[in-house]
Amino acid sequence: MISLRKLHPLIVSCLLAAVCTWASAQSAKPNVIILATGGTIAGAGASASNSATYTAAKVPVEKLIAGLPELGNVANVKGEQVFQIASENMTNEHLMTLGKRVSALVKQADVDGIVITHGTDTLEETAYFLNLVIRTNKPVVLVASMRPSTALSADGALNLLNAVTVAASKDAAGKGVLVAMNDEIQSGRDVSKNVNIKTEAFKSQWGALGMTVEGVNYWFRAPIKRHTQQSEFNIDEMSALASVEIVYSYANVPRVAFDAVSKTGIQAIVHGGPGNGSVADRIVPVLKDIRAQGVQVIRSSRVPDGFVLRNAEQPDDKYDWVVAHDLRPQKARILAAVALTKTNSSKELQRIFWEY
Ligand code: ASP
Repeated sequence: MISLRKLHPLIVSCLLAAVCTWASAQSAKPNVIILATGGTIAGAGASASNSATYTAAKVPVEKLIAGLPELGNVANVKGEQVFQIASENMTNEHLMTLGKRVSALVKQADVDGIVITHGTDTLEETAYFLNLVIRTNKPVVLVASMRPSTALSADGALNLLNAVTVAASKDAAGKGVLVAMNDEIQSGRDVSKNVNIKTEAFKSQWGALGMTVEGVNYWFRAPIKRHTQQSEFNIDEMSALASVEIVYSYANVPRVAFDAVSKTGIQAIVHGGPGNGSVADRIVPVLKDIRAQGVQVIRSSRVPDGFVLRNAEQPDDKYDWVVAHDLRPQKARILAAVALTKTNSSKELQRIFWEY
């Protein structure tokens, strides 16, 4: 060890100045919290050639952060393990726990942005849920990967770096909950997992909002539907989600699933119909009976793109049903589960489906 006293005073003051510059650069960087929930981004396979056969939710958040020192160039990053699950195991309770934690963190003055690592399977549902209930303008960004970190050409590291870049950026503020995947920045409302085996897995029929390339965000459009700061919903005022279930239709669909689900005390049923949310003639009376029991009926489409028109395939006004607009069944469930914590009016529910 060289004693500072033996060094020339000029060298000492240069060293101190360098340390001070480094320290102020550190404190000038945005503070980003990574909330880890599991998924493939935290997955591990037996060998580098295992890109699709692996165990999800294995690697703890500290290890993810330690494995990516580049994060430190972008932000002061801290990790928190909220759960360690594959996202097909997400429940309403997980959504509430995660949402409450995000809401608490965004209120802290020393937090500039949040990144949530998540499995790809239900990421779009969590992203939409947070987009509806977190009252903030600070960036909240979900990220995932299609390949585990142990695989050749793993996509998680760059996705995570991009997500932290977005969460640390002032230009990402006020754009709702975002999803950073495959260099793209997507709206959490619009995006869905469209491909289950490629790194280019997430798409929105309305297009990405932008891209992150070499640490810079390039924006091309902004979300128009109500979200986060302008939302009428607030997780701080919610204790549980309303009970909403989905039943799909297909050629030869029997009524058994509709009957079974309607007996479970639900507040709404989402009909995942073909085409423009069409309902088979033999299912129409079943849905009318369900509505007569006070359960909301939401007509959505299992077709990936497009949107359901009110009073087109079915007389929604006459039956007092709601249409899901462009939301796929799994997103319609999330919106109904949030909305029905505040209202049980079908008119209000339809307004909410148009606005969010
Ligand atoms: N089943 C995994 C999950 O959703 C898949 C993934 O993350 O890609 O957690």
